[in-house]
Amino acid sequence: MHVFCLKGDFETLDAYTPLLFDLGARGLEEKPGEVWAYFPDRLELPLPGEWLELPDTDWLEAWRRDLKPVKAGPFVVLAPWHAWAGDEQRIVLEPGMAFGTGHHETTRMALEALAERVRPGMRVLDLGTGSGILAIAAAKLGAEAEGVDIDAAVIPHALENARINGVSPRLAEGTLESVAGPYALVVANLYAELHAWLAPGYAEALEPGGTLLLTGILAEREPVVRKALEAAGFAPRQRRQEGEWVLLAYAR
Ligand code: SAM
Repeated sequence: MHVFCLKGDFETLDAYTPLLFDLGARGLEEKPGEVWAYFPDRLELPLPGEWLELPDTDWLEAWRRDLKPVKAGPFVVLAPWHAWAGDEQRIVLEPGMAFGTGHHETTRMALEALAERVRPGMRVLDLGTGSGILAIAAAKLGAEAEGVDIDAAVIPHALENARINGVSPRLAEGTLESVAGPYALVVANLYAELHAWLAPGYAEALEPGGTLLLTGILAEREPVVRKALEAAGFAPRQRRQEGEWVLLAYAR
């Protein structure tokens, strides 16, 4: 197993987390003074750190053992081996195959916001679906849900996760340009600059009065997103923050 070792902790390196997963990290682990990012192969990374080599099994077993169920709104996100006796709606995911296990603040906030806003029969788009978690949650809430991801490699994992959960959102490789709206709600857990760039596309993808839920936004980058959305004609509706991560709800 190939490990990219960065100096710091989860808090100081939080801004790099989405990028590490986007570049193919299968999991992150905090060690004293360091964060280890596990990759299936070595690659050129635009980040300060060094590569370590580990025997293949150690990390995976330890990481699986330590993984805890995560509660978010009416949902609990479980790995297939977790037992759970609570009344929450279960989302069972094979962790580590794609971003979106519910352990990141942004995913949890998106799950909570979806639970508040999705109604049965709504057309919902999850842009950047990763593990499929948000499309699966929307489908469980009764939506006609669709998830797309620019990374074709995550789609088989998202499809398998949907199957395990007994729902059938449409899941495919794609971007905002390749989908066929209009949607009543679009949710996207990306990053501030990309949201700003996509703002006019979000307006086109949504029906009048539709809801936009954006996260993956570091609080310090929030003004970039707000400015772009307001220039594209969106009206602010709600803001959530967990740690330094923000979720914004806007109406078209
Ligand atoms: N939706 C999941 C969640 O909330 O946990 C995963 C979010 S993960 C931070 C971002 C995902 O967006 C990655 O799977 C990445 O491949 C995908 N992505 C990045 N840019 C994209 C784009 N322009 N269009 C579609 N997907 C994109």
